[in-house]
Amino acid sequence: MKHVEIVTTAILLTWVAVVILLERRFPYRKGLPFFREGFWTDLVLYTLVQSYALKIIIFDYIILPLDRHFEFSKLHFVTGWPVWVQVLFFVITHDFYIYWFHRFQHHSPLFWRTHEAHHSGKQVDWLAGSRSHALEILINQTIEFAPIILLGADPVVVPIKALIDAVWGIYIHANIDVKSGRLQYFINGPEMHLWHHADHQEVFHANFSTKFAFWDWIFGTAYLPGHKPLKWGLYYDFPKDYFLQHVFSVKRFDEQQLLRYPLFRRYYNLRPALWRRLRTAITRKKPAETPVASQLPA
Ligand SMILES: [Zn+2]
Ligand SMILES: [Zn+2]
Repeated sequence: MKHVEIVTTAILLTWVAVVILLERRFPYRKGLPFFREGFWTDLVLYTLVQSYALKIIIFDYIILPLDRHFEFSKLHFVTGWPVWVQVLFFVITHDFYIYWFHRFQHHSPLFWRTHEAHHSGKQVDWLAGSRSHALEILINQTIEFAPIILLGADPVVVPIKALIDAVWGIYIHANIDVKSGRLQYFINGPEMHLWHHADHQEVFHANFSTKFAFWDWIFGTAYLPGHKPLKWGLYYDFPKDYFLQHVFSVKRFDEQQLLRYPLFRRYYNLRPALWRRLRTAITRKKPAETPVASQLPA
């Protein structure tokens, strides 16, 4: 099992390198910086810390106790199927579910709160898909991986499915000018998903597909004009900090108003100050050249 994870990690890192190179060579939007706004939040907090913590909660505290209690996996519902059939079965069924849940999140004001973070970035690239509210991941990955375990799938299906998710997720958000022709009716990619991240009203309720584009075409939500979006992200202000993004989903607040409070101001300035210090350490600039937190604009 361990070597499967080594192989899937190696494939994933190779894929990241390939996509980054393709983004530089064939950009969908020219001039997008590699270290764009929110890069470190998406990489460190969403991709590494949140994913790691939620993986433990989802598997060790939800799915495995469920299986121990009900012993569903002992029914071996899919155990006899070839591994590739199991993978295909779970990829298609989960993609169908995620189309409808995603569509529901865009229609329900309450569930929109669990999805707006994903739309908050104005510079969408290979890493942007990782920005997903913790509750959104908790719901979706529990619904994704519970059937795999409970129906008695081969243990390798979990890392294979997780790899397919990551590879496809990186692809659909990549800033690559893909023109896949008729394939776009089947395979979802940046052509339609980058439009889904646009701040254009005509696409607020369109392009909900993740892996297979045909859900959008079948259920009448496909949007693919011949031009590119002009505006990106949300039409309202959204916090840039990971924890404030989660607080904002529960209770709306105005960051500029809260900056009157010294404690909030200190927290608000902490992250940019840390990055400045880190950058200073890396570039070996003299500390005097770096503004300290108290000097940062409120
Ligand atoms: Zn969406
Ligand atoms: Zn997205």
